[in-house]
Amino acid sequence: MSWKFFVSHSLPLFFLFFFYSFPLISTKHNDDPTFKTMHDFSGYPVDESSHTFTPSNSISLSVDIQALQKQIDELSTFSDTPAPSVTRILYTENDVLARRYVKNLMGLAGLSVTEDVVGNIFGRWDGYEPKLTAVATGSHIDAIPYSGKYDGVVGVLGAIEAINALKRSGFKPKRSLEIILFTSEEPTRFGISCLGSRLLAGSEALAEALKATVDGQNISFLEAARSAGYARDEDDLSRVFLKNDSYSAFVELHIEQAPILEEEGISIGVVTNIAAPASIKVDFEGNGGHAGGVLMPDRNDAGLAAAELMLAIEKHATESGSLDTVGTVGILELYPGAINSIPSKAHLEIDVRDIEESFRNAVINKIHKAAKSIAKKRKVTLSEFKIINQDPPAHSNGSVIKAVVDASDELNLTYKYMISRAYHDSLFMARIAPMGMIFIPCYKGYSHKPEEYASPQDLENGVKVLALTLAKLSLR
Ligand SMILES: [Zn+2]
Repeated sequence: MSWKFFVSHSLPLFFLFFFYSFPLISTKHNDDPTFKTMHDFSGYPVDESSHTFTPSNSISLSVDIQALQKQIDELSTFSDTPAPSVTRILYTENDVLARRYVKNLMGLAGLSVTEDVVGNIFGRWDGYEPKLTAVATGSHIDAIPYSGKYDGVVGVLGAIEAINALKRSGFKPKRSLEIILFTSEEPTRFGISCLGSRLLAGSEALAEALKATVDGQNISFLEAARSAGYARDEDDLSRVFLKNDSYSAFVELHIEQAPILEEEGISIGVVTNIAAPASIKVDFEGNGGHAGGVLMPDRNDAGLAAAELMLAIEKHATESGSLDTVGTVGILELYPGAINSIPSKAHLEIDVRDIEESFRNAVINKIHKAAKSIAKKRKVTLSEFKIINQDPPAHSNGSVIKAVVDASDELNLTYKYMISRAYHDSLFMARIAPMGMIFIPCYKGYSHKPEEYASPQDLENGVKVLALTLAKLSLR
């Protein structure tokens, strides 16, 4: 679908965007620390004879931080809950409006915009060797209920501003550069996280499962997609799959969602690994009974079995041998849920993560063994122990890490290698492309709540590092 379509249907917004998209061309300052020659950009001597794109073959990277901040603020108004919270659920009216907003910005940045049948959006800047595989960046704009305006958004609007900054500088990419807005990184509506990137990475199981997936209101995935203008007469979602060699690299800019960078006063996090969660659902069932009538020796209390399992999870995660192992029970439900009734059923949902799959899976096995022995000891039934998903963790690619580090060095920004303990679309893009991630600090590490905040300076630093990283990867 052409962005012009959206522009013609949103004229007032168009003029608003028009002013954003043509900021003043920055003048070249030789004392500017971001001043780069093309040689600096690539890290290698570049034959520029056939591609003389700026008079001086030099480049000055300037980020229009006011415009970017304004875009972040405006995008946050497409929300189902009042400011400062943001709630933007897949395929709702506000999601569709927010997507339109982003497509307009992509169009105004001169990108050619396409969408696939589930609404992954691609904005492409053709390189001067368009047959080479492209370099991609991107993130998500959906937001869980009552969250903030920076999670994901920084990696989409920041990427558009990075492209704008490169264009203003006179840079011309060799490999095409592509921005991806991933559909539904958050699992809010259909219970599936990273839905868009999982499909792009070729998940046959998901393409099949989505045909029968419904939301809490019993609206099917395909019905919801169609209401947002996608998957019109298309049931086969496997056509979303990307080929393994679609991108030569993928790099995502994101807020850290943890407090380390801020606490240590470091500008950039260079992600080396992404921990991957496994999700487990567990049910214990007992006889229940009256809280007054059944004496303690005669009980088989499903709630106490759950409590004992929670402590076992803590113990096994703590004793895994790796500091990176974490185990959490985020959901605990007791039935029938009355003060004078012994729980006849307990339902737990468990999240276990590590950057090493073997450590994580070893902990899951121990949790399973613990659940069985607790059930036996407490004479309850372990009626369910179901691993809902068990994605492998991802490792960043050495050459992408190097590009991020070189970019940070050249911009005189402090950086630190770190692990992403949260899930990102990058986890799945790593299956089909060499992957890397750039983190910027966020206030107190807050995320998924309205207090989420990244300072203009940190945003600007992140966008500059992303722009320079994309430029380097593009010239390889
Ligand atoms: Zn995110």
